[in-house]
Amino acid sequence: DATIRLLAREWLNQEGLAVEEVDDGAHVPAAFERLRPDIVLMDIMMPRVDGYTACASLRKLPGGEQLPILMMTGLDDLESINRSYQAGATDFTPKPINWLILGHRIRYILRANRAFDELRASQARLANAQRIARLANWQWDVAEDKLVWSEEIFDILGLRPEEFGENHEAFLRRVHPEDVKLVEKAFRKALRGESNLNIDHRVVKPDNTERYVSVQAEVSRDETGRAIQMAGTVQDITQRKQAEEQIVYLAYHDTLTGLPNRRLFKDRLTHTLAHAGRHGHLVATLFLDLDRFKRINDTLGHSLGDLLLQEVAKRLVGCVRKSDSVGRPSVDDFTTDVARLGGDEFTVLLTDIREIQDAAKVARRILAVLLEPFYLDHQEIFVTASIGITVYPSDGEDAENLLKNGEAAMYHAKDQGKNNYQFYNDSMNAASLKRLALENRLRKALERREFLLYYQPQLDIATEEIIGAEALIRWQHPEMGLVFPGEFIGLAEETGLITDIGEWVLTSACLQNKAWQAAGLKRIRLAVNLSSRQFQQKELIEMISRVLAKSGLDPRCLELELTESIVMPNAEEAVSTLQQLKAMGVRISLDDFGTGYSSLSYLKRFPLDTLKIDRSFMRDIASDPDSTAITKAIIAMGHSLNLRVIAEGVETEHQLAFLREQGCDEAQGYFFSPPLPADDFRPFIEVHRQPKALIGIQAKAV
Ligand code: C2E
Ligand code: MG
Ligand code: MG
Repeated sequence: DATIRLLAREWLNQEGLAVEEVDDGAHVPAAFERLRPDIVLMDIMMPRVDGYTACASLRKLPGGEQLPILMMTGLDDLESINRSYQAGATDFTPKPINWLILGHRIRYILRANRAFDELRASQARLANAQRIARLANWQWDVAEDKLVWSEEIFDILGLRPEEFGENHEAFLRRVHPEDVKLVEKAFRKALRGESNLNIDHRVVKPDNTERYVSVQAEVSRDETGRAIQMAGTVQDITQRKQAEEQIVYLAYHDTLTGLPNRRLFKDRLTHTLAHAGRHGHLVATLFLDLDRFKRINDTLGHSLGDLLLQEVAKRLVGCVRKSDSVGRPSVDDFTTDVARLGGDEFTVLLTDIREIQDAAKVARRILAVLLEPFYLDHQEIFVTASIGITVYPSDGEDAENLLKNGEAAMYHAKDQGKNNYQFYNDSMNAASLKRLALENRLRKALERREFLLYYQPQLDIATEEIIGAEALIRWQHPEMGLVFPGEFIGLAEETGLITDIGEWVLTSACLQNKAWQAAGLKRIRLAVNLSSRQFQQKELIEMISRVLAKSGLDPRCLELELTESIVMPNAEEAVSTLQQLKAMGVRISLDDFGTGYSSLSYLKRFPLDTLKIDRSFMRDIASDPDSTAITKAIIAMGHSLNLRVIAEGVETEHQLAFLREQGCDEAQGYFFSPPLPADDFRPFIEVHRQPKALIGIQAKAV
């Protein structure tokens, strides 16, 4: 009605409300879309489409569901009031309209609606947050045993709402059978008021998968203290639990082989020892270290090294497990546990052995299975191990000591030539302590300038003139005195210190030779020994040319001594490295020749200058016809390959005479001089001295 609309506009404008008009129910939906009003005031009577229909159509529009709609009905017209509510009206206002009151009414409805909107929004936020957190909330009416859930629970439990009962029992049915007691107890305690409910437990979904949930709740009580209601949350914490389990697994296992790691092994050992102590049982540990594993790693690469460790782990497990692959129980009636301590170190724990020899039996079996070649990446790889055995209680009271002593016994097995096992005894500990002390000292020896070079002359046999010298390292140890390379080069190799020590040797030797030349002394070539690890070093060529450049020494005055055991295992690569060295002008000598592989075909391919006959042949020349024959053959072979031949370890006139007779080119040994400090060596190359006279100089020091 146009008049009513006019009045409404007047009054409501005075209330500070903006008013838009529509003259027929038919225009309502379009006007709603366009205007998006906060409230609709609507007459029931309209020309074409009435108020009920317009109201119902508004409710169906998106955004129209919550819109406050106020209908104008006739006073006392119950019929139209009812129909209005049915059509979705929020409220009604009877005609004739009291405009003053209507204004207040609208303001009130708008305010209530705003509060309602905010509540809805915050509920939506809460529901969203709970969904993200996989968190459901619940309320349990204790007396009525009625349980109300938020929707999220159905997702957590994998159920449809209708599948889920509405009482406490319905929830307990979903709890993992093993956890039911725990859950019931926690509820009882909470109801009695002893503690709040706060437990983690498992639930089982209909597809039989398990989830972990965390349940927390508080109890409300009446005046008498009786529990009337419990309200709480259930959160799915499966992912967190899995992460926790994964972390625990990783903390106790070796990722490469999946075996228990040092930590778990020690835990188990400690546990086993406690048990064995109470029952007077014997326990043995096998401490196993692969022989020359570093070499495999360095030459074949780390990924193949890793593969090898995995295969070794499999063989170890296979050879000590309780029953063999056909399911027959093994002959052993004790239990075994294999672990990887790190690197190439493994341990085997033998629980409740009857006699000490049981441990030896297992050790022999392990050594035997490792002897079979490994086929990895189309290569045949051989590996052996050294094993140290300790027995509880005689070799140690606790895990720590058993492991420590096992390691000492393992080192003893290495010293015994590797590929064997040794039982621990007390003297081994002293040896391994000494070794450790030596290693610590060795680490500091370079910076403390404790290394020295000694020089041993090499003479031309025909002219008996000095033509070169071999630089030999010495370690001036503050307590042990002068230490020979045999005692620390191996250790330097194992620890990797050889790289720095080797560079120091090369630098010192080159600088020394250059200094002698600069002082106008006889020009000689200086031989420097290279160790295996140095030779495999990628930067070797670069390091040598850097040192040569720095010292300004003519490369032809430098000779590198390599043994067969260094070049043969990786002959192809060695050929290429040696060629690069040759190209630089450096000389190459094959040291300790005759003791190693002596593969003639390779010898031809190596770009060598000198063959150096091992000193063991010199020693035996007088007594052993074989040594004589071999020495002759080496000299002949060397000459046929156009190499110079030098004999080392020449100590007597007789040996020298023999060499001269066989046409050997050069000689080195105590007969001429022991290795000497630089100052003592100097007279050998002072040009005015007669070489022959030098022979008279007796050893001052070795
Ligand atoms: P090598 O290269 O075969 O050196 C010869 C060894 O024989 C030296 O022992 C030398 O003192 C010894 N010798 C010399 N003349 C005689 C003799 O007439 N009779 C006997 N019985 N022995 C003699 P040294 O100095 O103890 O060196 C031992 C080994 O240590 C060397 O064997 C070499 O392999 C290694 N070495 C020495 N210096 C270095 C170095 O700077 N770097 C590396 N990587 N290894 C080195
Ligand atoms: Mg040498
Ligand atoms: Mg030698």
